[in-house]
Amino acid sequence: MSLKAFQYAESFALQMDGQDPLRGFRDCFFIPEQNGKPVVYLCGNSLGLQPKQVGEYIQKELDTWAHLGVEGHFQGENPWVYYRKRSKHTLASLLGACEEEVVAMNQLSTNLHLLMVSFYRPQPGRYKILTESGAFPSDQYIFESQTRFHGYDPHDAILEVAPRPGEHILETSDILDALDRHSSELALVVMSGVQYYTGQRFDMRHIAAAARQKGIPVGFDLAHAVGNVPLSLHDWGVDFATWCSYKYLNSGPGNVSGVFVHQRHAKSFDLPRFAGWWGYDELTRFEMKKGFKPMPGADGWLLSNDNVLGLAALQASLDLFLEAGLENLTKKSEQLTGYLEFLLHQVTNGKNILEVITPKDPASRGAQLSVFVHKGGKGLYDKISASGIVCDWRNPNVIRIAPAPLYNSYEDIYKFAVALDRALAASD
Ligand SMILES: *Cc1c(COP(=O)(O)O)cnc(C)c1O
Repeated sequence: MSLKAFQYAESFALQMDGQDPLRGFRDCFFIPEQNGKPVVYLCGNSLGLQPKQVGEYIQKELDTWAHLGVEGHFQGENPWVYYRKRSKHTLASLLGACEEEVVAMNQLSTNLHLLMVSFYRPQPGRYKILTESGAFPSDQYIFESQTRFHGYDPHDAILEVAPRPGEHILETSDILDALDRHSSELALVVMSGVQYYTGQRFDMRHIAAAARQKGIPVGFDLAHAVGNVPLSLHDWGVDFATWCSYKYLNSGPGNVSGVFVHQRHAKSFDLPRFAGWWGYDELTRFEMKKGFKPMPGADGWLLSNDNVLGLAALQASLDLFLEAGLENLTKKSEQLTGYLEFLLHQVTNGKNILEVITPKDPASRGAQLSVFVHKGGKGLYDKISASGIVCDWRNPNVIRIAPAPLYNSYEDIYKFAVALDRALAASD
């Protein structure tokens, strides 16, 4: 649907909801309430809502534990020794990967460190990391501490590509130019897939291709990309990636992350890595012998035995993704975010109060719009929040609004616009 066809009217939003083939999925989620009424939840970029079936999935493993105790590792419907394997099918399809390239484990920051142990191999003269400026703080601390760990000065070893003066988003050509200019000194290229602050989706395909062509390992932090935008990590030739599952993947606060390691490294057993027993060849693991023998593929990066209760919650959500289909979700996501963009323009009516800094091209963003508030600042955000809207505020003056196609409706977007309209009128 073209932008022109959208309307700022409740009847229009309800009509769109009536025609939405995914509308039933909203009922699969608990929607939080404020003053006895369901909120308009537009914060799936921070913490996705709870699928109603999460309790049942976890309860099943609690029952196995209650009835079988330690035998649950090998008995019951989903023996715990192999529990993580349940998630591989859907994770692989969300990431555009083969099953052996992905595994759910640990948390994001831990995983990024572990992957950098393998893929950040600095040498004299070639020790720098290329990344985006304003990366998520955890990533910045990881890059800093990794360069220091190898004996380099982070100020010298970390190269950040920044937006041009007066702009908020990065030009792909500037990223590729920097990669080209510094190629002889780069030991690693690592960026977000979707930038947490601006909502910009980077051109992962071209960045990966350019890095690969220069022989530089390339990785992505997909915290804001997984379950949000289509990914083809295998075909793009990305070396490694990691993500968290509590944002668009709705697995619950702080829940299990995952890693992708490209197939070409599946049997690179001499790649340095920090090892643990769960990464050991599973056929002979319980012989408990000395001498680490990694499993092929991403599983060779596992350390610990599976966090079954966390994985059960993740599975409940992945099963909904599988049922809905990523292609359908992407289609709806573009429409919903397009509708949000349209209504933001309608409400501000050409006045310079708000500025969407997220790219306009749907191929360069996902479900999130980041809005610079030129007038009213945090007060405006507080007014919107008081009227039952959940989105988030990032200093100095950005509101992030993220319609998640699994559970958000066109009516949600309409209600957000009405709340914003009233808040702006009250601030005049
Ligand atoms: C949310 C997020 C994280 C969070 O890291 P945890 O280890 O899960 O706490 C890291 N990086 C990015 C880009 C994020 O958006």
